Amino acid sequence: MSELNVSFMDQAACKGMDSELFMPIRGENLKIRAAKAICKDCPVRVECATYGLRLSTMYDTYGIFGGLTRSERAAILKHEGRTMATWVNSNLIGASR
Ligand code: SF4
Repeated sequence: MSELNVSFMDQAACKGMDSELFMPIRGENLKIRAAKAICKDCPVRVECATYGLRLSTMYDTYGIFGGLTRSERAAILKHEGRTMATWVNSNLIGASR
C-alpha cells in the first residue's frame, strides 16, 4: 500500500474522531448520514475519495471515504470500468496492485 498517498489525512476533518463513525454497517443510516455530513465540508474530501477508490481496487474495503460508501465506490468503479476487490470464498477477487 506504499504507493497510496495518505498525506491528506493531516488535514482531515475527521482527524481525532472515533473512526467507528466512518465504518457503518448496512442499514446504519443515521451513522452514514452523520459521517457524510462531516465529509461534505472536509478540505481533503476529493483526496480522500480518490484514496478510497484506489484502495477499493486493491483490498476489500469497507467504510466511508470522501463521503462515499462502499456501494457508491463500487458504482463509480464499475462506471469507470474498474473492479472493486472483494473476498469470495477466501479468495480476493478483482484486486489490482
Ligand atoms: S472526507 Fe471524510 S473520511 Fe475523508 S478525511 Fe475527510 S472527514 Fe475523514
